[in-house]
Parts: sequence; C-alpha cells; structure tokens
Amino acid sequence: MKRTASIVLAVLALAGAAQAADPPNWSKPVRPYRVVGNIYYVGSEGLSAWLIPSSEGHVLLDSGPSPAGAKLIEANIQALGFKLSDVKILINTHAHYDHAGGLAQLKADTGAKVWASRADEPALEKGQHFGDNANGATPFAPVKVDKTFGDGQKLKLGETLLVAHLTPGHTIGCTTWTTQVVDRDRPLNVTFPCSASVADNVLVGNKTYKNIVADYRATFATLKALPTDVMLPSHEEQGHLLDKRRKMLSGDVNAFIDPTELARYATTSEEAFDKELARQQAAHKP
Ligand SMILES: [Zn+2]
Repeated sequence: MKRTASIVLAVLALAGAAQAADPPNWSKPVRPYRVVGNIYYVGSEGLSAWLIPSSEGHVLLDSGPSPAGAKLIEANIQALGFKLSDVKILINTHAHYDHAGGLAQLKADTGAKVWASRADEPALEKGQHFGDNANGATPFAPVKVDKTFGDGQKLKLGETLLVAHLTPGHTIGCTTWTTQVVDRDRPLNVTFPCSASVADNVLVGNKTYKNIVADYRATFATLKALPTDVMLPSHEEQGHLLDKRRKMLSGDVNAFIDPTELARYATTSEEAFDKELARQQAAHKP
C-alpha cells in the first residue's frame, strides 16, 4: 500500500514537473463556443478539447494535460449549459500527457467510459509515453480504458457518429477521428487529426517502436486522402484556431471551412519529418 502510494506521488510530482514547463496558453482559459454543426470547443487557449453532444449523451475528445486541465474543460462544458453527467464517452487523439493527462479526472467527475485504440491503451493505463523518445516517458495520471478498438471503429451515440482512423507514428496508437455535420444546411466532413509531428521521437534505432518510420509514412498518406472540409486539431497552432474564432466573431460563417487544410497539414508535417529523419540518419552514420 505504502509503496503504491509513494509511486503515485512520484508520478504526480513528475507530471507536475512537466506541467511547470508547459506553454502558458495550455492552461489559459478561453470562452467555449460552437464551431460547426453540433461540435463545441471546450479546451484552453492552446490545447483543444471538443464536445460533441447528442440526445443520448455526449462525447468528449481529449482532456488537457492534467487534473487542472480537466477542470478547465469541465467548467467550459458547464458554461455552455451541458451537464457533466451527460458526458458518456471519453476519447483521445493520443496517449501523450498534454491530451491524456486529464482523462482520469474527467472519468471520475463524469462517470464516462474511456475508449482508446488498442495500441495506445497500455500507455494510457500506465500513464506514460510508449516508445523511445528524447524526452523520456513524460508521465501523466494513468486512466483505466473501458473499450479498445482498431482501425475503422465506429462510435455511435444518439445522433453522433464518429469513425476512428489509426494514424500512428507520433504515438503508436494515434487516432484521427472523423464525423459529418450539417451546418447552415451544408453537409461538412470534419476531421480531428492526431498530431503528426516528430516531437522528439527516436526515428533511427527505436528499440521499442521498430515500425515507427513506416507508420509515419502511412499516416501522411491516410491524412492526405481523408475528405475534409473542417480540420479541428489538438493544438491551437496546428489549425490557427484563434484566428478562425476571431473571424467567426466578426461574422465570417465560413471561418472554419477550408477543404485544403488537412492535406497542407499532412504535407508540412511530412516535410518536417523527412528533415528530422535525415538529421537522425546523419547523426547515426559511423
Ligand atoms: Zn503528442
């Protein structure tokens, strides 16, 4: 018991240490808002969280970096007039602390079930990044996963239908979610891409994630092929969400619509990946 308690404290202390170095906008509150259709932004200024309500309960995508990040999301959900107890399913783009560190708190406060890709489940339940990374394990509060899934899994809750597309590389179980909404009588394809950056992953000689380079390559191809009118990423800067929100507030009803954005995101990510791969290969030459 004592040993478990001290391990928990050590994990929390490390999670706190990671938090101390986080960009300030990850914990900066921002007013929640409806984005398109029935999709609501409930994250902080810098880290996304998306609420998709339905008549049979709500889905929440991503959790912020910590229990405090979860509380910020909860306040946003309530500020929009939704009940925490109506959140039924928690999903996650990937098992990194900045998107998963608040899941345990959200699960405790809402009673929702946690769905995760089969490949990311161990990292979520252990509370640390899987695979060799220059940053180490970057621990976070672990969370029990209730349901695991593979590529193509559908999540149906009331009127909500989400589809999981596995886009591994950034993490081994990185999941891109898609859905369709109707906004001002227009049907729109919405994609929530998992991060595709290298983010200090070891690309050459990764002992615990041997297939990482091939996975990244497949992911870039998958992302380029997904028909997408609205791209809703997990970091503000990946989709210039603040700019779009400002445009929306000044009357631009198409502020979040850009059918070329996801392919551009994939291409930019691939270029950065190629550069980093070449750098790591050069560093490994005898
Ligand atoms: Zn990440």
